[in-house]
Amino acid sequence: MRTLFAGGVVFVGGRFCRADLLMEETRVMAVDRGLDRSDVDRVVVCEGRVIAPTFIDLHTHLRYPGVDEDDDPTSIARAALVGGYGVIVAMANTQPPIDRVERWREANSLFATLPIEVVQAATVTLGREGHRLVDFERLVDAGVEIFSDDGSGIQDSSVMRQALVASAEFGVLIAQHSEDAALAAGGVVNDGVAADALGVASIPEVAESVMVARDIELLKGIPGRLHLQHVSARESLNLFRQAKREGLRISAEVTPHHLLLPDTRVLGGDTRFKVNPPLRSVPTQMALLQGVLDGSFDAVATDHAPHPDSRKRGSYQEAAFGMVGISEAMPATWTALWRTIESGERRKLGSDLASPEWIALGRLLSCLTSGPAEVLGRSIRLAPQARADLVVIDPSAEPREIPSRWYRSGNSPYRGEMLIGRVDDVFLAGRQVVDEGEVVDA
Ligand SMILES: [Zn+2]
Repeated sequence: MRTLFAGGVVFVGGRFCRADLLMEETRVMAVDRGLDRSDVDRVVVCEGRVIAPTFIDLHTHLRYPGVDEDDDPTSIARAALVGGYGVIVAMANTQPPIDRVERWREANSLFATLPIEVVQAATVTLGREGHRLVDFERLVDAGVEIFSDDGSGIQDSSVMRQALVASAEFGVLIAQHSEDAALAAGGVVNDGVAADALGVASIPEVAESVMVARDIELLKGIPGRLHLQHVSARESLNLFRQAKREGLRISAEVTPHHLLLPDTRVLGGDTRFKVNPPLRSVPTQMALLQGVLDGSFDAVATDHAPHPDSRKRGSYQEAAFGMVGISEAMPATWTALWRTIESGERRKLGSDLASPEWIALGRLLSCLTSGPAEVLGRSIRLAPQARADLVVIDPSAEPREIPSRWYRSGNSPYRGEMLIGRVDDVFLAGRQVVDEGEVVDA
């Protein structure tokens, strides 16, 4: 079976080029202009559309093993496919947590049946309690590449230091949910208007940046690798940039919801917008968007966190933290980036591939593909002989609500949100799994 993606723009090695792409069985065979159409079985017309590698999410909550969940790995994997993802990193704050080899193996054996690749993280500390390190040697031997206590930050500086030493010794990544528990205690929203209006305690930006500062200090002199999860504070981004300039082995992700949704969304008390770290002020959002546009951030990661409605009910104080959003990640982030370029009327992407909007789209696609791949120590590129894991996206698709019918959980912050752009088709190893936004074969 030979398929030609004709007349589109291909994202190769961080750049756009006008070219056709020929796929044969599971592989990319050629990327070039004017490829011969006569000898192919199928032509996918890609005028006005972009062909890119499938996306990688560094931060998904797959909720397995879990208790009383509506969503499960199968439904979440389908939602991820619709979002254009081929690989997701599953967090380890499950019930019980993935803090030993047996649990990690058990989760992996289930994930092997899913249509997408799951990279399962393990916790950094036993029981995710922040006191004693897990058995890094056994877990790394079993195949674990990423360790994270996500859901909470590692408070004890000595434990964090030991974790970074283990990272250096075993060549693995420590991903940190940077949050000082004392500064965040009891908080549920950003400080300022949100906390004042709802009369609740806040999680200020400094609760994050103070831990980022500490971890960067700890990393100096240790050749370990630190990844900053869901960066939401201006000062965290500044510290991260400085650390990168100094040559530390550090990477960072930002979420679509922190880029698109300001803290004023919580004013009505809608618990769909309750998330940790909380939605921030517009000036912080602008700073984070700049961090995507200038290439500071390595990745846009979703922090996709399904909850059954029962856990999102009740007051803002009582409801659980977390939102879904893996199906809408690309359009949500693209919409946020568009607003920085186009202050008023939206228009279609022009033909000049060097224009600011194309550069912005390139930054976004890097943060969804090659950036997270590098964090995982991989490289991906749509070149001949590469596995044909690719998406066809329409960046100029009219603003619309993305139907999130694959979610069983109702905690999508994008319900009712008009988003620009869409993921049309997804192919994994040459097999079409999403057609016009619908899962077809997974
Ligand atoms: Zn987290």
